[in-house]
Amino acid sequence: MKFDLCVIGGGAGAFAAVIRANELKSKTVMINTGLPIGGTCVNVGCVPSKTLIHAAEVLHLARHHGIPGIDLEIKHFDFQRVIEDELALVEKLRAEKYLKVLNNLEHVTFIEGKATFSGSHEVEVNGKRIAAEKFIIACGSTATIPLIDGINDVGFLTHIEALKIIQQPKELIVIGAGPLSLEFSQLYSRFGSKVTMLVRKSSIFPRAERELTDQLTKIFAEEGIDIQINTEVKRAFKANGKKHLICVRSGKEETISADEILLAAGKTPNTQEIGVDKVGVEIDEKQAIVVDQFLQTSQSHVYAVGDVINLPLRLETTAGHEGTLAAENALTGSKRFIDYSAVPYTIFTDPQLASIGLTEEAQMKKTGVCSCKTIPFSEVPKAHILRRTEGLIKMVIDPNTKKILGVHILSPGGGELIAEAMALIKSNQTIDDVINALPMFPTLSEAIKIVSLAFYKDISKLSCCI
Ligand SMILES: Cc1cc2nc3c(=O)[nH]c(=O)nc-3n(C[C@H](O)[C@H](O)[C@H](O)COP(=O)(O)OP(=O)(O)OC[C@H]3O[C@@H](n4cnc5c(N)ncnc54)[C@H](O)[C@@H]3O)c2cc1C
Repeated sequence: MKFDLCVIGGGAGAFAAVIRANELKSKTVMINTGLPIGGTCVNVGCVPSKTLIHAAEVLHLARHHGIPGIDLEIKHFDFQRVIEDELALVEKLRAEKYLKVLNNLEHVTFIEGKATFSGSHEVEVNGKRIAAEKFIIACGSTATIPLIDGINDVGFLTHIEALKIIQQPKELIVIGAGPLSLEFSQLYSRFGSKVTMLVRKSSIFPRAERELTDQLTKIFAEEGIDIQINTEVKRAFKANGKKHLICVRSGKEETISADEILLAAGKTPNTQEIGVDKVGVEIDEKQAIVVDQFLQTSQSHVYAVGDVINLPLRLETTAGHEGTLAAENALTGSKRFIDYSAVPYTIFTDPQLASIGLTEEAQMKKTGVCSCKTIPFSEVPKAHILRRTEGLIKMVIDPNTKKILGVHILSPGGGELIAEAMALIKSNQTIDDVINALPMFPTLSEAIKIVSLAFYKDISKLSCCI
């Protein structure tokens, strides 16, 4: 069988690619195995994790809304029922947003099976050879298993199991400091597990603004999550029905124990079994496929997108848009690319940590001076109404043109607020444009105007209506 385009994978990147290829009426084959159709996001990623996060938030808010005169009693919390409900939503969205969509793509053939390159222009799947003019590799990534002696014998959860176990661990150790670690730690803690986070570096999520991550660390500690920084996990063993980890912190060894261990220490691109050597595609030291800005690999007829590549910001949104662009570039010869400096990310903790563009550190490296302001949400009237003044917003601007270059938010709904920052950055807006605009009062989005005003005025001396 010979196709115009062969897409390896069945997740966000692959789906966006085959949808575009179908629009271009190209004879396309999509090959997927491992995760069910839809890949990580719908099955074992964004959708199920955010469903559980919402459930945990409802539980937390019922207990900690802080409004005098309202006393809500939680009569019953059934962990298994919450998980079953989450899995039902996964099934519904997989059917509606993936299976149904795939069935309607008239130019696309779907094959369930593992694709391995057997030559420069062909892959082998289920013992058959499939040839194509162009390829898009969109085969995702898998949870990284850190080098911890004995970890495989002791057993552990990854995000896949943590989203479907029916017995809630009483005590949970979470290894890692990134988005998955933070989201799972807080949701399990809010469900009632005693959570210990083991973090190798001196801070959670070092890529983000330190002021914001320090504040999030404080909030986690207040919720009862034990964050152990500068902690290197060396060895795992099982004894007396528990799992134990021998760790080194400041040169000292100690043992940390729990019922269960969740590995959330990053993801490794799935390049080990696709036969990159047969097609001659270059991968880097982290196993990621090396692509240029047009998503083209070291072989001009092979493109790659999503979690399997070496570009920054591996998200559902980037995987999807890269899929669209790679299909278009591969099939029409266009040269479309993404400006990653205008793509936001969000960690769905509560408060959410959302960010776009330049950080203070990046600006300092670039120019040697920082033009940035941080204000607390206690300056935002709506935050008082919600009793949620713990957040921060930081803005980075160009000191000469006053153009907004970066916005970093720790706030309830931070993932929604960052969309406004994205629009401002994408359309080259300045703080003066923001100051002259009139966001609705009282809303959390006023924070963007207030932090812009902070470049000119002492905002603690302003009234609500400024
Ligand atoms: C717990 C969790 C929560 C997340 N939350 C968010 C979020 O809230 N927002 C967000 O933007 N992003 C989130 N992400 C990241 C997001 O899910 C991924 O970046 C995105 O889904 C990657 O899509 P992809 O198409 O590259 O890969 P995948 O969706 O992983 O698809 C790859 C597919 O290829 C298959 N495959 C692998 N090898 C082969 C082969 N040889 N032959 C055939 N098929 C193969 C895989 O089994 C899989 O089905 C989250 C991730 C996780 C794990």
